[in-house]
Amino acid sequence: MYADVAVCLPLSRTFVYRLNEPVHAGCRVLVPFRRREVEGFVVGLRKDPPSGIAIHDVQKVLDSEPLIRPDVFELCQWISDYYLAPPGEVLKSALPPGISAKHVEKHVAGIAGTVCDRTNAPSLTADQARVLNLIEQSNGFHAILLHGVTGSGKTEVYLRAVESFLARGKTALVLVPEIGLTPQLTERFAERFPGRTAVLHSSLTKRRRIDDWLRIYHGEAPVVIGTRSAVFAPLRNLGLIVVDEEHETSYKQEEMPRYHARDTAVMRAKFGGAVAVLGSATPSMESFRNAEGKKYTYTAISNRVEDRPLPDVEIVNMREEYSAAGKQVVFSRRLIEAVALRLERGEQTMLLLNRRGYAAFLLCRHCGFTFQCTSCSVAMTFHRSIDKLVCHYCGEAKRPPSRCPDCNSEYIYYVGEGTERLEAELRQIFQEARIGRIDRDTMRHIRDYERVLGGFRKGEIDILVGTQMIAKGHDFPRVTLVGVIGADGPLSLPDFRAAERTFQLLTQVAGRSGRGDSPGEVVIQAYVPDHYTFQLACTHRFEDFYAHESRYRKAMFYPPFASLAGITVLDRDPARAATLARDVGKFLDSVKTPAVRILGPAPAPVERIKSVHRHQLLIKSSSRTVLHRMLKQLQQHLEDNKVGATRVIVDVDPVSLM
Ligand SMILES: [Zn+2]
Ligand SMILES: [Zn+2]
Repeated sequence: MYADVAVCLPLSRTFVYRLNEPVHAGCRVLVPFRRREVEGFVVGLRKDPPSGIAIHDVQKVLDSEPLIRPDVFELCQWISDYYLAPPGEVLKSALPPGISAKHVEKHVAGIAGTVCDRTNAPSLTADQARVLNLIEQSNGFHAILLHGVTGSGKTEVYLRAVESFLARGKTALVLVPEIGLTPQLTERFAERFPGRTAVLHSSLTKRRRIDDWLRIYHGEAPVVIGTRSAVFAPLRNLGLIVVDEEHETSYKQEEMPRYHARDTAVMRAKFGGAVAVLGSATPSMESFRNAEGKKYTYTAISNRVEDRPLPDVEIVNMREEYSAAGKQVVFSRRLIEAVALRLERGEQTMLLLNRRGYAAFLLCRHCGFTFQCTSCSVAMTFHRSIDKLVCHYCGEAKRPPSRCPDCNSEYIYYVGEGTERLEAELRQIFQEARIGRIDRDTMRHIRDYERVLGGFRKGEIDILVGTQMIAKGHDFPRVTLVGVIGADGPLSLPDFRAAERTFQLLTQVAGRSGRGDSPGEVVIQAYVPDHYTFQLACTHRFEDFYAHESRYRKAMFYPPFASLAGITVLDRDPARAATLARDVGKFLDSVKTPAVRILGPAPAPVERIKSVHRHQLLIKSSSRTVLHRMLKQLQQHLEDNKVGATRVIVDVDPVSLM
């Protein structure tokens, strides 16, 4: 017998090896490969070897039974095909690192928990009951887009739906964007289904990941909560998949294998005849379009629980603040007043600024010199606590100079504020206030989140400052004010999704306000307050935003009205990078059809990261099939010319164009 083996290397094709013992498809084997021994997956079996090539023996069979379930195996093949991802790498990512057949054999079953503990469950509103009913009525595959405003109680709907599927002997998978940012959701599932919930995410220890995976594999944990890789959870009899905050970009894996966990989840539901529920207060353009085209069933909850009003949103024009103060200010008079009022009333405030560090960059006022990272083409950010300039792309850090290295002038200025500066200024204005900060500099571990968020929940912190990390689905009933600083910063990014991201962020962070008994207020500070994104976020008009944004996307031929793929060419040598990018461009031109438009090659928005030069091409197509065929041809062309998959990165449905 012979086996087709997908080796765990960045290669799109499989290789044939001779078998000396029987093996099932899906099992792992060790095979000789280019003078090395590498792990691979058996993806097919055949009686006859292909002629004309030397065939080597499989060195060792690692699994007697495949650890990957047939439906997950099918899903991996779909990912490999759709995203043009190396099949061995995809299959490898479906298993926890370090798992062996021995773990599976030796697993001792734990004690099964109670079925469901509904002690603390609130009763459902009419809206929640209607949505639950829709989910429960589904027979076989069904994709539902649940558009529920912030504070509308989507989590309770998920919990009831899971309960309902468990009662039918089915299992359930709940995907969340980031575990650390959603501790409350995880806790609620663990409380509702005690002893029957497993949590899967990458910051767990290797052993813990294997243990939880085994509990799922052996059917002890029929409820799984996890981040994107949990889409591969070895659940049998899967009945329900929930994708919470489906618009979040963290569902997209930005390294090999590149896949979108939300879209992959819908495919898993399709292969397994399950129900997929995509929930969000700000659905992605893609999912909303799918609902419009009737691929997904659209359902909405437009009222908050207990009919709490959505917060009032006010936009402050920072150009006027500049004129009034005669200089750049971090906080508007309106925001200072509003924070002071909250402190007086004993209520809480959240302030969002989507940039960490103290100052965005250092500028020489004399010659205009800015301090760039030596390995990346980006400005270095000043962090005052460590008194260093830090590159946010590669982490390089150095002391800020006292004089300009270019013209020797001493007029060096700190421009643009970050969360660290926000905190420092707040401490000066409100000396009595208790202030907490959440960003990647202060949050090194999940424990750090729990400490600060826990303190905020208990009322030990008055003002919480942070990056977009604080915008996620937290529920703090005493927050009545949310302030957004520098709201228009992201709009200037060279990304066609900039407006969508800004709308989502503003709506989400505004949704943190007024979740308790007191109504909420939101103050947005912007330099271009008339932008439609602010006006529509202000009035919580998602449909209007969608309609407006759709016109622009259609005119520009961008998703969701075209299929998109991004190609990034990488090389340490700038000339070689440019030449390879031109070759890729020429090849694509030679195989393109009228259904396709190609942009580039051009230097990527961030031209250099960690000393690697980057060029970019974008392919837009009205036909997904044509795009897919072209990419396959390119892949073949590159492999024929021995260009590795690490030098030309193909990204299907990219979410980041930086
Ligand atoms: Zn200078
Ligand atoms: Zn750098």
